[in-house]
Amino acid sequence: MPDNFENISGKIRTPILEVRDLSVSFHLLEGVIPAVAGVDMVLNQGEVLGVVGESGCGKSVTAKSVLRIIPCPPGSIDSGTAMFEDRNLLELTEAEMEGVRGNKISMIFQEPMTSLNPAFTVGDQIAEVFRFHRGMKKREAFERAVEELRRVEIPDPAKRARSYPHQLSGGMRQRAMIAIALACRPRILIADEPTTALDVTIQAQILNLMGQLQTDIGMSIILITHNLGVVASIADRVVIMYAGRVVEEGTIDDIFACHHHPYTHGLLRSVPRLDRPSEDLQEIKGIVPKLNDLPRGCAFSNRCDYVMEQCRQREPVFKPIGSGHKSRCWLENRPW
Ligand code: SF4
Repeated sequence: MPDNFENISGKIRTPILEVRDLSVSFHLLEGVIPAVAGVDMVLNQGEVLGVVGESGCGKSVTAKSVLRIIPCPPGSIDSGTAMFEDRNLLELTEAEMEGVRGNKISMIFQEPMTSLNPAFTVGDQIAEVFRFHRGMKKREAFERAVEELRRVEIPDPAKRARSYPHQLSGGMRQRAMIAIALACRPRILIADEPTTALDVTIQAQILNLMGQLQTDIGMSIILITHNLGVVASIADRVVIMYAGRVVEEGTIDDIFACHHHPYTHGLLRSVPRLDRPSEDLQEIKGIVPKLNDLPRGCAFSNRCDYVMEQCRQREPVFKPIGSGHKSRCWLENRPW
């Protein structure tokens, strides 16, 4: 890929993170589980990339592999590159990765309680980022922590900075996590199901906040979710993953208005849409197959309403079907 390319809207896009041919497996008692199989993914400067799929499709493993936070063993990064600032993150030393994580690339998770330390105040935990990455003294770091809480719109931030995580609501804890993640003004924020544990009103507030901070800071975001409805409001482009593979990729319009892959179609039919209020919600039949026991040919063939004989024989190639729009499916035309 060239350093810069023009997308369909004529906007110049500069890749900031390029993942190529990433394969990751887990060596468990039940056998080798190929969790990610040859994933290509590009995040451009200043964009929000939605990564969507059901649980176990490889979304989080892909992101955690880029940050090198999957446990190895049992995990193993078998192939691929993740280029960021002219360096392959998969080849950096642990000491070099410490300078990247939480500083240039940050990650937030679904349940802040698993990431926040219950024994320290949220102010101390934000201050720790400034002390570790910026070498600030304790007092200055704590004052900055209060500013960061104000930035994420936590009311009475000076008081809240002295609160322990269990004293905050779920929404406030997620705001505190965002404050920690963005303290060093990272170039990339990876948000893994950041709103799944929150009720709908708070979800919308957190997504709005992320969108606003993304514009303020000028960072790029990878938003991982099982819910296409969540990416609709914030993402520029979307990658759909199934069984450790990317099965469709396109702009938000490509995915919502002219998606090509039956799995994307199934995901879309399973979320309520304001533009099609009369449509019945339908779930995708069956369950995600075991990754070490995938059907022959197309990994989605045992759940697909449009399966053909050739789908059971050969795995479809990931091919362009429009400018910047790609699909991994043997269907020539959309049947819906
Ligand atoms: Fe369905 Fe065949 Fe396309 Fe796979 S390749 S998604 S089975 S139509």
